[in-house]
This record gives sequence, C-alpha cells and structure tokens, in this order.
Amino acid sequence: MSAFDQLLSRLSTRLINSQGSETSECVSEVIAAYGEYCHADRCYIFEFNEDISTMSNTFEWVREGFSRHIDDLQNIQEQDLPYFFKTMQIDFRFVCPDVSQLPDDASAEREEFEREHIKSVLCIGLVAKGRILGFVGCDKVRQQHDWTEEDVQHLSLIANMIANTIERERTHSALLETKRALELANQQLTQQANIDGLTGVANRRALDERMALEIRRAKRQKTGIAMLLLDIDDFKAYNDHFGHLAGDDALKAVSECLAQRVKRSTDFVARYGGEEFAILLSVAHASDALKMANEINDNIHQMAIHHPKSQCSNVLTVSIGGYYEPPSFDIEVVEASNRLIKHADTALYRAKLAGRNCIRFF
Ligand code: GH3
Ligand code: MG
Ligand code: MG
Repeated sequence: MSAFDQLLSRLSTRLINSQGSETSECVSEVIAAYGEYCHADRCYIFEFNEDISTMSNTFEWVREGFSRHIDDLQNIQEQDLPYFFKTMQIDFRFVCPDVSQLPDDASAEREEFEREHIKSVLCIGLVAKGRILGFVGCDKVRQQHDWTEEDVQHLSLIANMIANTIERERTHSALLETKRALELANQQLTQQANIDGLTGVANRRALDERMALEIRRAKRQKTGIAMLLLDIDDFKAYNDHFGHLAGDDALKAVSECLAQRVKRSTDFVARYGGEEFAILLSVAHASDALKMANEINDNIHQMAIHHPKSQCSNVLTVSIGGYYEPPSFDIEVVEASNRLIKHADTALYRAKLAGRNCIRFF
C-alpha cells in the first residue's frame, strides 16, 4: 500500500464515522494531512452558494510561517473572479502551475493570487450528485510546481471524500431543520386547539384535560379543589344595546381581568361557553374559594363597563356559582369532574335566581 493509499484509508474511515461538529474537526484534519503530504503551503475548502454566484472559504490549513486568508475570503462574488468561477463550473477543476502565465482574461485571478504570494494553484471541485458544492485546493507559495496527473488524481480522491461528507451533513441538518419545524407546527396546533380564539384564554377542551390533572394532584397532595362558574349578567341586553362587537370587547375585558386575578400555576381560567367562564382552584378550604370569588366580583365591578340595560346595576356584573370538593383518598377523576361542573352550575343558577351580581356556593 502506498503512503497516499494509507493516508486516504485512515482519513476516510475517520470521516465516515464522524458526526456534527466532529465532522468539521475531521475535515480540518483531512486538509492538514493532505497539505503536509503534498508539501503545499496552504490547503483549503471553499463552498459555493446555491446558485454558484458567491463562494466562501470554510476551512483553511496553512504551513507554519504562512499567512492565513480565510477572513478576507468570505462571500466572494462571481464578478470578482469570473474566469475562476467559469472554469470551476465547466471543468470542475482549476490547474495552474504558474500564476504568471494565466491568460489575459484571468487578470483578476492573477492579481488575487499575487496578493496572496501564490505561485501555483490546484483546485478540484467538490461534486456530489452531479452538483458542484465547492472545491478543495492547495497553493504553493515558496516555489512554483508543475502539477502532475498523479497530483490531480490524489486531490480528486480527497475532494470526493469531502464532497460526500458535506452532502451527508447538509442532508442531515436539512432533516433536523424539517423535524424542528414540524415539532413547532405541532406545538402551535395543539396550543390553538386548546385556546379560545376570541379571548385567548383556555377553552373547554383544555379545561377538561386540566380538571383531570388537578383532580389527580389534589388526590396525591390531599388538598381540596374548587370550581367557580361565572356568567355575565344580562349580556344579551348588553349585546342588543351596544352591538355584537362591543360585546366581544366586553368578553375580552372580563377574560383579561380573570387571567390577571388567577395567577397561581395550580389555578386555571377557561371560557366555558358564550359568556360563561370557569375557574378551577386548588385550595385548602372552601373559604379560600369564596374569597377568590369575592375578589373577582369586585374586580369586574371596578372595570366599570357601562351597562345601562342591566337589571341589577349600571355597570357590567357577573354571577358566580361555586363548589368546593374537600380532600379525599378515593376520589375518581371522571366522577369528580362531573361533580365540580354540575354543583357549580346549580350554585350559579341559584345566584341568578337570587337577583344576579352575587355569589352562591353549593
Ligand atoms: P343572564 O343574566 O341570565 O345570564 O342573561 P344573559 O342575557 O346574560 O343570558 P343569555 O343566555 O340570555 O344570553 C347570553 C348572551 O351572550 C347571548 C349571546 O349573544 C351572548 N354571547 C355569547 N357568546 C358571545 C360572543 O362570543 N360574543 C358576543 N358579543 N356575545 C356573545
Ligand atoms: Mg349564560
Ligand atoms: Mg348571562
């Protein structure tokens, strides 16, 4: 086995087994090893953009004592080095044993190479699935070098290896990107399915899920749980008087007020139906739930939303029905859920019967 075969076999095994940032390290090692092997002074990789109108230096190895150029060689435009871009796209290679002998239409290239003190250049395209992704190249700075067919063949094998690696990494990161986008879309969909479109608070579906969760928590932690059902008083008359849009605004204002008031992570506000809201509370005593109901009632009063058609006030008011479920060891989720709603609803009915703008507990 020749020295080059040995080098190639070692490097390809490493590249095949590498992943993510490890792959970048490996590619850096590949160009360093090749640079040393072929006595180059610089060895590098450039990658083209999608439509091959710009290129950027993405990897660079330089022999000790030689200057780096990677920072100056970003986003180079096709019009800056037209001869080079064209040759690369047609021949998939750029073989230049003597920079000073470049033809006249390559004057921009000659200037650039001279700026970097380059005497000879060899670049081989990175081609994957018939598309050129970029190129790997090496420079001779100390002395001019007539590239042999063997030099071209060797660098082509290295280019092949790197092209396949870049293609593999791009496919992998595109897959990751798609996966992330899907997860995000899924998250948003779940969220939308659980949120009331008008008010932005949770909907009834989310309330059902949350009730099951909180009932199980209450059982584990042996705490009580309470449900408040709140219904806006004379809301039909409000709509009839101010119009449906103003009605929507009032609903938003009420839901904001509730969301402001109910902030603990174990408590939960949902729009239960048209102008009804449900508030699930994790509380130690029935009196805690009553206190919360009173505060909510006050807060809604304080918003002072003018309601000239109300039977019980001149501002928008609510009636609240509450039910408190004490701690229990053998509480059953579905039964407890039904009980919370049913009893709070009965209490709400009594609050309405009692003249509205008041609170009743079951
Ligand atoms: P009560 O005091 O007995 O609760 O009387 P009410 O008029 O509030 O109750 P009723 O059930 O007769 O009317 C509820 C009203 O709520 C009628 C309906 O148009 C209104 N409503 C329900 N959902 C919406 C909504 O999304 N936007 C608006 N603007 N109004 C709504
Ligand atoms: Mg109602
Ligand atoms: Mg109502």
